[in-house]
Amino acid sequence: MQAFEFTQAKTVDGALEPGGRFVAGGTTLVDLMKLNVETPHSLVDINLLPLDRIEATADGGLKVGALVRNSDLANHAEVKARYAVLSEALLAGASPQLRNMATTGGNLLQRTRCYYFRDTNYACNKREPGSGCAAQDGFNRIHAVLGGGEHCVATHASDMAVAMMALEAVVHTKGAKGERQIALEDFYLEPGSTPNMENVLEPGELITYVTLPKLAAGTKSHYLKLRDRAQYEFALASAAVVAHVEGGRIRRVRIALGGVGTKPWRSKEAEAELEGKPTQTKHFEAAAEAAMKDAKPLKYNGFKIELAKKALVRTLEQVS
Ligand code: SF4
Repeated sequence: MQAFEFTQAKTVDGALEPGGRFVAGGTTLVDLMKLNVETPHSLVDINLLPLDRIEATADGGLKVGALVRNSDLANHAEVKARYAVLSEALLAGASPQLRNMATTGGNLLQRTRCYYFRDTNYACNKREPGSGCAAQDGFNRIHAVLGGGEHCVATHASDMAVAMMALEAVVHTKGAKGERQIALEDFYLEPGSTPNMENVLEPGELITYVTLPKLAAGTKSHYLKLRDRAQYEFALASAAVVAHVEGGRIRRVRIALGGVGTKPWRSKEAEAELEGKPTQTKHFEAAAEAAMKDAKPLKYNGFKIELAKKALVRTLEQVS
């Protein structure tokens, strides 16, 4: 591991000053520093900042501080009762020990599990722009079928972000230019020719909290994660659905997929397929087809297309 400076911030403004990389739970960054994939010269510990609360918002939603630990968020009574999809996604991720450390802000920013990204012996445009992408002709079973291209096909690793995408979460930040709010849908970037740029945060911009909107009474939600083993494994395909069903018809639905896209993948095509329709399997299957219609399989990951469709159909059955 490369030597680095370490400072501890006590206020949000104090955290912005040193200009280093922020570290909270350390469950992604420290791992990658040990592998020499990340080599920051300066780290700013933000664990003392007052960003560890879950509070109701004035409009009936929920405000989640960036330092709220994944286990606390998953087990919070309001989250379990009103945002079940989020609790389920969090509990499907990582291990209890990791969830006790990992934070809301850090989870949104976790890096890909692409093997080639994490091994400096291989070419990787995300780690070293312009060096190539070893996954294109490599073992690409875990890689993306949506949103990728010749420069990168890495999936986003977060379960939590998939649930938050379906909940239409908003990310709140503070940086040198002040505060801003970013709809999670606009937060992540597709790789294009610059896969090293994963989101719209500017250097030194800190996530302070995330807000979840109030859901209509009777809204149901669910997260289903399909993976190689039942615990401590990343998604091969997952589905998050937030649906308001009334009189046997889907009035409003929000859908996001995990494990298949280069970012947590909102599917407006699937939503459009369902809104106003009766809760029947044939409509769920049509939505699944719509969600995956642009999927492009690589040599080893074609199975994900069918897997994601089945995950979505089963999740829709669960909330209807
Ligand atoms: Fe790197 Fe992306 Fe290619 Fe993986 S898929 S090797 S992260 S450029």
